[in-house]
Amino acid sequence: MEKITENIYVETGYPGTNVGLIITDSGSVMLESPYMPEDALDFAEKIKSVSDKEIVYLINTDHHFDHVATNGFFTQNIILNELSVGPLEIARISAQERAKEILAGDGPQTLKDAIQKMDVPRPHIIFSDELSLNMGNLTIHVVHTGGHAVGTSFIYIPEEKVVFCGDNVVSTRFPYLGQGVYRTWAAALVRIIHLDVDYVIPGHERVCDKEPAHKLLKFMGDLQENAEKLFYEVHEKHKVPQSDSDLAKFFPGIEGWPNPAEQAMAEAVRRMYEQFSAQSASF
Ligand SMILES: [Zn+2]
Repeated sequence: MEKITENIYVETGYPGTNVGLIITDSGSVMLESPYMPEDALDFAEKIKSVSDKEIVYLINTDHHFDHVATNGFFTQNIILNELSVGPLEIARISAQERAKEILAGDGPQTLKDAIQKMDVPRPHIIFSDELSLNMGNLTIHVVHTGGHAVGTSFIYIPEEKVVFCGDNVVSTRFPYLGQGVYRTWAAALVRIIHLDVDYVIPGHERVCDKEPAHKLLKFMGDLQENAEKLFYEVHEKHKVPQSDSDLAKFFPGIEGWPNPAEQAMAEAVRRMYEQFSAQSASF
């Protein structure tokens, strides 16, 4: 776990999402929870090593299973955007199935004991546009934007100049565009770029500054400009999309992992084309 400012820590080493910890006068606040139950146990130890304050809230940036899987291990006081509440049910069911498998397996007893607490609770606090927590020394603003998923929200802590962006920002991996809405996603990136922050925490991979948000905004601009041509190339000619900026190579991927860019590009182009033509048709 990395200490990035006076009161904020981030763990970027787990296979699921990045997990954040904010230490405030009114208790500790977590951002997301580890995907693997073993990592939830590990993170609980890491929390103890930096603070003995209770976890008073846990905020998720979206409903996806890799962000919410071990929420229940830490607290029932989950904060989630209203548009994520329905889709969260899928993650709740898959967490219950995973728990059953682990309990039936021959893993260590400590893990089996912990699994009993690892459900995905329904959120305790549900907000629509924006919610602010006055935590004494720090203010935590939770802002809904949509984009990567319907309920995607960013969490901004002005006193520490930090924003947690969830999967609306990626650093090197190709973005997951399968549920993306480009118009709101691009607007979210513009909002993030205008924040007074030094640290931008993406949903996965290393802590960064605003540069990846600029890069993704440019990528989306190129994608939109070329949507019709790319759609034709991908779906009629089965070609890997190319454009002036060579979109398919825009995000180099993670070393040692297969780059999903080509396959993801075909999906991205289809979604962009559909949204783009739906928008033009409505005028
Ligand atoms: Zn997500």
